Amino acid sequence: MIVVLKHGTPDDKRDQLIEWIKGQGLDVHMSIGKNQTILGMVGDTGSIDKDLIACLDIVDSVKTVTDPFKLCNRKFHPAPSVVNVSGVPIGAGNFAMIAGPCSVESEEQIIEVAKAVKAAGANLLRGGAFKPRTSPYDFQGLKADGLELLKIARKETGLPIVSEVMGAEQLPLFEDIDMIQIGARNMQNFNLLREIGKLNKPILLKRGLSNTLKELLMSAEYIMAGGNEQVVLCERGIRTFSDYTRNTLDLAAVPMLHKLTHLPVIVDPSHSTGMSDLVCPMAVAAAACGADGLMIEVHNDPMHALCDGAQSLKPEDYADVARKVFAIRNIMTQPAAI
Ligand code: PEP
Ligand code: MN
Repeated sequence: MIVVLKHGTPDDKRDQLIEWIKGQGLDVHMSIGKNQTILGMVGDTGSIDKDLIACLDIVDSVKTVTDPFKLCNRKFHPAPSVVNVSGVPIGAGNFAMIAGPCSVESEEQIIEVAKAVKAAGANLLRGGAFKPRTSPYDFQGLKADGLELLKIARKETGLPIVSEVMGAEQLPLFEDIDMIQIGARNMQNFNLLREIGKLNKPILLKRGLSNTLKELLMSAEYIMAGGNEQVVLCERGIRTFSDYTRNTLDLAAVPMLHKLTHLPVIVDPSHSTGMSDLVCPMAVAAAACGADGLMIEVHNDPMHALCDGAQSLKPEDYADVARKVFAIRNIMTQPAAI
């Protein structure tokens, strides 16, 4: 249930109402916008008398929110959220260009790629240190050493760093990582979601391989319910019967999620296609449909990459993608001519 307050409601009267709602055993989420303040009730609202609240002189309207996700719901927070990753804002018109190798492989590799993607316009550096691989015999990542190499690349370039955590026991190693990624395979690892909900750190939550948008939002809700509201969603392709791409990039998810949630939504055209030559068209399309950013895999030597070489761009190809994406962004953000 959400309560829309009348414009100009005095703070003390608003706070009295909040206290009353809390007294009914509910949590209250307040969203103060330019023109309206919204109080979102979280919990079992079954015993709340909607008409009683609607009669109060400070209340404009009361609406029932039937969606199971509340804190990430656009109805609770009509303005788009901005997630700040160590000085890089994402959302509400701020575009994230996350780029870097699938896996951190060596100091030379990560520094070379970091410098190249920064020169091309990237504002965040990615690199996997703990890798979720289908085969236990494949390269599993450099683990703690990989995180240390990412920090060196951050020092060299100034780019904040993004890396995936695979289990709660690894979290102490991520204290100095700017943004923690929850990968597709862990989207519904509810224990892990609860743990990262306790952190004060931006989270990149990737959609699971076969998960619906509602499930993705419920996973975001897990994190937010713990107190961490700094969540960015990532559409990375889903399993369908499409036969020639690694996954199917569900681009309609971007405008749909923007209707459902205030959280920023970015797109990963690398894992969703699995092919380097499809990354550019899908990146441009993602920018055109309103994504708040892109996460793209870039490798200095894709032919010899230890993971996901086929979908990794060479730095010069990333520069070309970035140029086209920025051109589309310009068109998207231009005011109408008439
Ligand atoms: C990745 O970003 O390297 C990754 C493993 O992605 P996903 O979880 O989307 O497969
Ligand atoms: Mn990868």
